[in-house]
Amino acid sequence: MAETSNKADHFVGVDLGGTKILSGVFKKSLECIETSKLSTKHERGVDRVIERIARNITTAVDEADLTFKDIAGVGIGAPGAVNFEAGTVIFAPNMEGWKDVPLKKALEKLLDVPVFVENDGNIAVLGVHAAEFKSKPRSMVGIFVGTGIGGGLILNGELYSGFSHTAGEIGHMVLDVNGPKCGCGNKGCFEALASRTAMFQQIKAGVKDGQKTILTDKLGDDLEGLRSGELRKALRSGDKFVDRIVEAAAEYIGIGVANLVNIFNPEVVVLGGGVMEALEDEMMSIIVETAQDYAMPGTMEGVEIVASKLGDKAGITGAAVLARKQTK
Ligand SMILES: [Zn+2]
Repeated sequence: MAETSNKADHFVGVDLGGTKILSGVFKKSLECIETSKLSTKHERGVDRVIERIARNITTAVDEADLTFKDIAGVGIGAPGAVNFEAGTVIFAPNMEGWKDVPLKKALEKLLDVPVFVENDGNIAVLGVHAAEFKSKPRSMVGIFVGTGIGGGLILNGELYSGFSHTAGEIGHMVLDVNGPKCGCGNKGCFEALASRTAMFQQIKAGVKDGQKTILTDKLGDDLEGLRSGELRKALRSGDKFVDRIVEAAAEYIGIGVANLVNIFNPEVVVLGGGVMEALEDEMMSIIVETAQDYAMPGTMEGVEIVASKLGDKAGITGAAVLARKQTK
């Protein structure tokens, strides 16, 4: 592990996603002073992605007018199962070739600072819990809907990562055994039904079958460059086809919430991620209503279901919290 100097009092938090890499430079107080974004380009292979992460971190540190001497540690949230002690990504379903990748070791070699790797859902819930809820709730479930669906659990005031650090894979709860195929190889996982990727696939399949949507007016029949923001615009102009798809996804999220409330009875269920950020107004009431319909009578009483205000900063904030905690 790299040596750190006494003046190293900043942290870098990295959110590694299937689509983009986001890095943030944080003060000890968790104030974010700089961010940098780069596309992941996972199809180029593991080594190229690791180089891109290193480049993105370096840019963020440089833009903050700092050097790596000022950085006490780097935390990374990776989209898949992670071995925290070894700092490896065991498996990332939405990233080509990501199996047993020694991410910590590779980045420490490139950057010469201590690096800590956790699952991205765990990291995001840690960020929301620490920065948004001031670490108050004793139990909290986080569900983050984006390219996939990540999640995390706070139990007894601490991040619960399970027997072998793989807990919180909420996105791979099977909600429909006959459902669509998931990146993990199973069928009908939560994220294969309600993630942005799932909604986009359903929209593309519908358009192929001749469904009418205003999305094709702007993007053409192949729907190239479709984003969550486009869905919001379509919904606000009364697009019935898009409305059905978003509603179905929101219902699945509600069912996911009900399952988790039944099992954990948390104080707070927090919803975040790019999809929630773009479609909170459209999805939230459906999610809450469906969760109430499906949860066991009595289990929902007093449970708060809220949308995170951290937006896409949840991941980088949590990664910085992890780095701060590990370098204490
Ligand atoms: Zn799955």
